[in-house]
Amino acid sequence: MVIIMKKYLSVLLSFIIIVLSLLYCKIQQVSTDTIYKNSFPIIIIDAGHGGEDGGAVADDRTLEKNINLEISLKLSDIMSVFGYKIKSIRTTDTDLHTEGDTIRQRKVSDINHRYDIMNSYDNCLYVSVHQNKFSNSRIHGAQTFYSPNNDESKTLADFIQKSISSQLQHDNNRVIKKSGTDIFLLYKATKPTVMVECGFISNTDELNNLKNYNYQQQMALSIAFGIINYNISEVKNGSEV
Ligand SMILES: [Zn+2]
Repeated sequence: MVIIMKKYLSVLLSFIIIVLSLLYCKIQQVSTDTIYKNSFPIIIIDAGHGGEDGGAVADDRTLEKNINLEISLKLSDIMSVFGYKIKSIRTTDTDLHTEGDTIRQRKVSDINHRYDIMNSYDNCLYVSVHQNKFSNSRIHGAQTFYSPNNDESKTLADFIQKSISSQLQHDNNRVIKKSGTDIFLLYKATKPTVMVECGFISNTDELNNLKNYNYQQQMALSIAFGIINYNISEVKNGSEV
């Protein structure tokens, strides 16, 4: 019964997403024909951390890696519904390291493998999903970072940030931010690459939201709309993604 209900909910969710997407495209005054006549980039969805690397830890011991994975899996499902090909960096609680005696060495190995996957695709967008943490627990709201190496990364980040602000976090006035050397993947990336910090797990209300299935779904949908609108804008401009 539970399985049947889950299947039913999954089908219902897919239907809702399709209806929303059609409405959204209509709002954007872009024909769906325009979208489907053009080749789609591979969407590489990178659930940050994993395995022994839990990422940030909330006061209630919630690990960032688990929220990253939940949102990434939902984002993957949504993008697939829209017809995009997906490459998931991870779909379980694992990391990608293949060598290293110390945690730091294994972390370097992990990041290098994520970077190699990015470089194994010509036509791709790389979207890394993370959660933020700060000493001041009042700080909240998503922020999207972009690779400094090409304009497409900045444009993609802007679409995603505006989508999250307009659809989910209405009081979010944050602006996108260029990555420094501290975010290795973005700093080294040559493909359109962004990192979405979906919220602060140091803020109790936001943490509760980020742990909530429906909120995760809405976050994934907001990111998806940002990616799709970016893609549409690139198609309209006649440029390759
Ligand atoms: Zn992180």
